[in-house]
Amino acid sequence: MANNGKTYRGRFAPSPTGALHFGSLIAAVASYCQAKAHNGEWLLRIEDIDRPREVAGASDNIIHQLEVFGFCWDGPVSFQHERIAYYQAALEQLQEQQLIYPCICSRKDIAKVNPYGIYPGTCRNGLATTPPSTTSWRIRTESSNIVFIDHIQGGVNCRLDHEVGDFVLKRADGLFSYQLAVAVDDALQGITEVVRGYDLLDSTPRQIFIQQALGYSSPEYAHHPVAVNSSGEKLSKQTFAEAIQLQDAVQSIYKALTFLGQSPPPELQFESVERLWEWAIEHWQLSKIPTSESIETS
Ligand code: GLU
Repeated sequence: MANNGKTYRGRFAPSPTGALHFGSLIAAVASYCQAKAHNGEWLLRIEDIDRPREVAGASDNIIHQLEVFGFCWDGPVSFQHERIAYYQAALEQLQEQQLIYPCICSRKDIAKVNPYGIYPGTCRNGLATTPPSTTSWRIRTESSNIVFIDHIQGGVNCRLDHEVGDFVLKRADGLFSYQLAVAVDDALQGITEVVRGYDLLDSTPRQIFIQQALGYSSPEYAHHPVAVNSSGEKLSKQTFAEAIQLQDAVQSIYKALTFLGQSPPPELQFESVERLWEWAIEHWQLSKIPTSESIETS
């Protein structure tokens, strides 16, 4: 059971790089139904940690799309750019624990040694030269094995040092990494279960590892299949996925529920958004979600 006696708390954490499209709607619907079916809370967190990638107006647009689609989140919307002090404190704690080290390697340097981008540990034992004013910071992954049960995909076992290598928590440009921000936020916001797309499954061992290093407990996890186009590409801004249309709320949520294996009755397509949500929450079953990595959508 995901809540271990605690109040269930889920979240949806979109990055404001564009409007929500069908692919992101699936994560919103899955996390929302799972939270509400547990009588739990569902938080909305805008992941605007990577400000240079942010698209002007995207946060407001996403919030408006979610409102029109009838999502009700608990508490105020949180924004990662307002939570920088938590990431800094986490980094300082890890520094005191001597779990992180400065690194001056570029992606190119790493690719020369390891075509898969696994960090070869060049800076792990100290820098040979005086470091430039800004460096990135990596966490040591020495012989760490992360094991967890994903509630959709089953058992996951990741030997981080072999499969990922020491990874970046703070970039040389001063930005905190997605991995650090999400690990800190999920723990400090008391999230009990993360429901999100399969594409993020390989980030999860890194996030659990950070949480363990900081002495936080980790949420449970469930990774649903992602929607791909006819070329097998994940629907995203990069693959020109169309934004969900405000006037198509019922149709789009219906389609997302179908994608998630919930088999909503066809007549619901002609009902109100409220009625559709009522049905979806009442009949929600995580076990009906297909266990594949991806599903093609038209
Ligand atoms: N911000 C990420 C995205 O929009 C999702 C992160 C997460 O759910 O952990 O892809």
